[in-house]
Amino acid sequence: MQPVFHPVLVIGGGLAGLRAAIEAKKYCDVAVLSMVYPVRSHSCAAQGGVNAPLGNVPEGRDDTWEKHAYDTVKGSDFLADQDAVEILTKEASERVYEMEHWGTPFSRTPEGRIAQRPFGGAGFPRTCYAEDTTGHALLHTMNEQSVKNNIRVYPERFVLSLVVRNRRAVGAIAWNMQTGKLEAYAAHSIVLATGGAGRIYSKTTNSLIMSGSGMFLAFRAGVALKDMEFMQFHPTTLYRTNILLTEGSRGEGGYLINSRGERFMERYAPSMMELAPRDIVARSIITEIKEGRGINNGYVYLDLRHLGEKMIDERLPGVRELCLNFIGLDPVKEPIPVQPAQHYTMGGIDCNVNGETEIAGLYAVGECSCVSVHGANRLGGNSLLETLVFGKCVGESASDFAVREQGSGENKIDRVILDAIEQEYKKTNEKMKGREGAEKPASIRRDLGQLMVKKAGIFRQEDLLREAIDGVSELSLRFKNVHVSSGTVYNLDLLHAFELEAMLSLAEVIAKGAFLRKESRGSHYRTDYPERDDANFLKHTIARYTPDGIKIEYRDVMISKFKPEKRVY
Ligand SMILES: Cc1cc2nc3c(=O)[nH]c(=O)nc-3n(C[C@H](O)[C@H](O)[C@H](O)COP(=O)(O)OP(=O)(O)OC[C@H]3O[C@@H](n4cnc5c(N)ncnc54)[C@H](O)[C@@H]3O)c2cc1C
Repeated sequence: MQPVFHPVLVIGGGLAGLRAAIEAKKYCDVAVLSMVYPVRSHSCAAQGGVNAPLGNVPEGRDDTWEKHAYDTVKGSDFLADQDAVEILTKEASERVYEMEHWGTPFSRTPEGRIAQRPFGGAGFPRTCYAEDTTGHALLHTMNEQSVKNNIRVYPERFVLSLVVRNRRAVGAIAWNMQTGKLEAYAAHSIVLATGGAGRIYSKTTNSLIMSGSGMFLAFRAGVALKDMEFMQFHPTTLYRTNILLTEGSRGEGGYLINSRGERFMERYAPSMMELAPRDIVARSIITEIKEGRGINNGYVYLDLRHLGEKMIDERLPGVRELCLNFIGLDPVKEPIPVQPAQHYTMGGIDCNVNGETEIAGLYAVGECSCVSVHGANRLGGNSLLETLVFGKCVGESASDFAVREQGSGENKIDRVILDAIEQEYKKTNEKMKGREGAEKPASIRRDLGQLMVKKAGIFRQEDLLREAIDGVSELSLRFKNVHVSSGTVYNLDLLHAFELEAMLSLAEVIAKGAFLRKESRGSHYRTDYPERDDANFLKHTIARYTPDGIKIEYRDVMISKFKPEKRVY
C-alpha cells in the first residue's frame, strides 16, 4: 500500500468542492475525490437560483447586502451566526459575477443584465437564475473551470474513512468502485464537501447519493455535528415522486390552492403569501391537508395556469417538462398536485467561517458543513451562494495550511503518518467483505426513511420523537445482522450498507437533538412547545460521538447587528 499524496485533498465534486479546489490550486497542488463524476453531483439538480443583492431589476434597486443579511437572519429564525451571514451576503455579488464571467448562461433582463426573481422570505427580487436549471448551469461552468485549471479528479471513489493522528487529519481511505480496490491518500489538508443527508427521509427531493456519508466521516473522526435537528422540508414537490418544483414557480407568481379553490396562504402569511419562508409554507400545506382542505387527503395544488404558456416556457421550462414526463400533466392547462418533502440539511459538520473544524487540517464546506448561515431555516437561493462564497474561502484556508505545513517540514508524510494510514487501510479492508446476515440494507433503509418522516418530520412532539429514537436503535440492531453480497466492483449492496451505517448514526443525532430542543424555531416545530424560546434555546446544538453514545451540548449563537425579534411575514 503506497498512498497517493496531494497537499490538498477535496472530498466531493459538487459546487462547493470544485470551487474550493479551484481556489486551492492557485497556491498548491490539489485533487478531488468524488463518489460520482463531478457533474452528477446533486448541485446539478438545483433549479430556482442563487441570491445576490445585484439590484438589477426595478423592484430590487434599493437592495443591499445588509438587507440580504437581515432577510437571511430573520429567515434562520435568528439561529444563524451573523459573522458568517455577513461574509455570505457581502461577497455574494462578486461571486455571482465571477460565475457569469466564467461562462454561466444566466437569464437576462431586457437590458441584458442578470435577471432576478423574487424568492421566499426575501424583501427584494434577488435570486439570479438560468431558467429553472440554475444548478446545472453553475456546475457545468465550475467543472469547465476545474478542467481548465488541470485539477486532478478521482471519480467513483467512495471515501470510507479519514486518517487522523494526534487530532490532525493526514489522509483518507477510499474505495475505487471501478476496480473494487481500496486506495490510500495522504494530504496536508482535507476538505469535506460531501453534500447533504436528505435520504434519511423517505420523502425527499435529494438524489440517491445524499446519505450524509461525509458528515459521518467527520463525526466518527471526532468532529461535532451542529444543529442536525433542523431539516428543511420544501413545500412544493410533485405528489408521490417528491421531485422538486422550484420555489421560482411561486416567485414567478404561482398560487397555492386548496380543495375549496382558496389561496390558503392568506391565513398563515397575509403579507408574503406564497413567498413566506419554506418552513411556514410547508406547515401551512400540511395543516390544510390535516384539516380536510387537501385534495384526496394528500396534496394541494400549485397553480401556474394564469402565468400563461409563454411565461412558463421562458422562465419555468423545467417545471413543465417534469410535470409532463413524470405525471403526464401540462401545468399550462392544469394545476399541479404538490406536497412537502425533505429538501435540505441545515445542520452539518461544525466549522468556522474558514471551514476549519476542531481537527487540524480538516475543513468542511457546502451542504455538509454548518458554518452556520442558514440557522433554523434556509432561504431558497442561499445555499448555491454558500457553495460559491465559502468554497472560495475554504479553498484558500486549506491551501494556506498545506503550504505552511510543507514549508515547516515538520509534518511531512513520514514513517509515522504512513503507518497510521496503513493501519486505517487494513481496518477498512476488513469492512469490504460480504456479510451473511438476514437483513437486506434496502429494507432497513426504507424503514428508516418512513420512521423519520412519521416521527421526526414537519410536526414533532415528545412521544413521537421518543419513538423515533427507539426506532432508530432497533434499526441499528437489525443492521448488525445485515446481509451484504460479496464482491467489490460496483457492488451497490455494499455501498448501500456503508451509507446506511452513516444514515442510522445521523438519524439518531437528528432525533435526539429534536427531542431535547423543547421549543419551535424555523423548520423544527414542536406541537407541544409551539413558541420560540430564546431564553433557553437561542443556541446551537453540538452533538458529539462517544463510545458510550451521543453527547449533546449547546453553544451560543453569534449575534451582532440583528437582535432577535418576532418572526412574522
Ligand atoms: C432538487 C434540488 C434543488 C435545489 N435548488 C436550489 C436552488 O435553486 N438554490 C439554492 O441555493 N439551492 C438549491 N438546492 C440546494 C443546493 O443545490 C445544494 O445545497 C448545493 O448544491 C450543495 O452543494 P455541495 O457542493 O455542498 O454538495 P453536492 O453538490 O451534493 O456534492 C456532493 C459531492 O460529494 C461527493 N460525495 C459524497 N459523499 C462522498 C463520499 N463518502 N466519498 C466521496 N465523495 C462523496 C459526491 O460525489 C458529490 O460530488 C437544491 C437542492 C436540491 C436537492
